Amino acid sequence: MKFRTIRTIDNVSAIDGADNIVCVTIGGWKCVAKKGEFKQGDLCVYFEVDSILPASDERYQFLAKTFKEYPTESGKLLMGHRLKTIKLRGQISQGLALPLTAFTEITTPTKDVDVTGLLQVQKYESSISSTGGTSQSGKTRTFPEFLIKSDQERCQNISKQIFADMDKQYEVTQKLDGSSATFFHKDGVVGLCSRNLQLATPNGINAEPSKPLLVRIKQHLSNLFSRKVKVATQDDLNSYWHQAAEKYNIFNLLKQYGKNIALQGEIIAPSIQQNHEKVAELLFYVYAVQDINTRSFLPPAQARATLAEINQLHGGELKYVPVLHEVVSLTELGLSDVDALLAYAEGRSILSKACTVREGLVFKAVDGSYSFKAISNAYLLKKDKKD
Ligand code: AMP
Ligand code: MN
Repeated sequence: MKFRTIRTIDNVSAIDGADNIVCVTIGGWKCVAKKGEFKQGDLCVYFEVDSILPASDERYQFLAKTFKEYPTESGKLLMGHRLKTIKLRGQISQGLALPLTAFTEITTPTKDVDVTGLLQVQKYESSISSTGGTSQSGKTRTFPEFLIKSDQERCQNISKQIFADMDKQYEVTQKLDGSSATFFHKDGVVGLCSRNLQLATPNGINAEPSKPLLVRIKQHLSNLFSRKVKVATQDDLNSYWHQAAEKYNIFNLLKQYGKNIALQGEIIAPSIQQNHEKVAELLFYVYAVQDINTRSFLPPAQARATLAEINQLHGGELKYVPVLHEVVSLTELGLSDVDALLAYAEGRSILSKACTVREGLVFKAVDGSYSFKAISNAYLLKKDKKD
């Protein structure tokens, strides 16, 4: 995902009561900049929220007071400044725009070009999603290539595309603030993954009972020394992902259903992400179904139907994320710009009465062509204050 790119300053506007700062608009983003630094049409380097500007780079020394160590996507810690959502003189500011003149390494500045690799900036990721949990005993491996990792583009980055077609039909679901989990069945073998890693599988879950004991022992031994995911220890089994698999009987349901699919969803629990949804127990909500044979996502209606079919045929109790609309267009919702969309994303959780500030919404085109997230600014302001 690109999160530091060369962009155009679409607009510069004054902030009431502020003499030294202005508000610049970059696509769907608004952020505060020094007065006089930009004029409309200028190119800039734009860093999205959750970028960590490294302390080791001279250019970010003006932020030295707020340097701290943050976990990154790679699971390692990086010392630097994390860009958060803030309010300055009543103006929401997200991310940071810096003039191109500060980046001499960018020799031929081109609009929308991703400069992620060039600048040593990394993305903040809460440690639970980057490490795949606390105690996987090293028995993990990289995310399987036959699956697609879960992610959603922020609406601010593709606002032009979104509002170019006001009659496009979307499924709108609530975004849950937990940890991503993927459970799959492929050719008789089941497995589980956190956001970035494949985790150890429970003992015996993929055993083939028809094989003679000796063959199974041999297989077990060869598994021990191969790159295969090792069998989980008791510690592993206590992880959120294993608890979810156990609670919803997911491996058995997937085996009985027998198709090569993956269920992707959010685990929420009292001990995950400060229990934003304020739930009393661990819960798992599916938000996507992947067809492994074609390495693609099922369109939302088909995903919901698949879940219902698994439950009906095999007595499952799998749940889908809360749905606000199965089919709706931006016209019908009366949303004609990013500000309106972001305002619509705010509100109470429909999953939990105790949660008054939901994280946001996810819009998925019903034809499966694309999707995006609209994160509530009220949520971001509240959360970014805490961590
Ligand atoms: P973020 O949490 O900002 O990284 O946004 C992307 C993530 O949102 C996905 O990887 C999922 O883990 C999570 N998510 C939570 N609720 C939903 C939902 N209703 N639809 C899609 N993704 C969701
Ligand atoms: Mn999340």
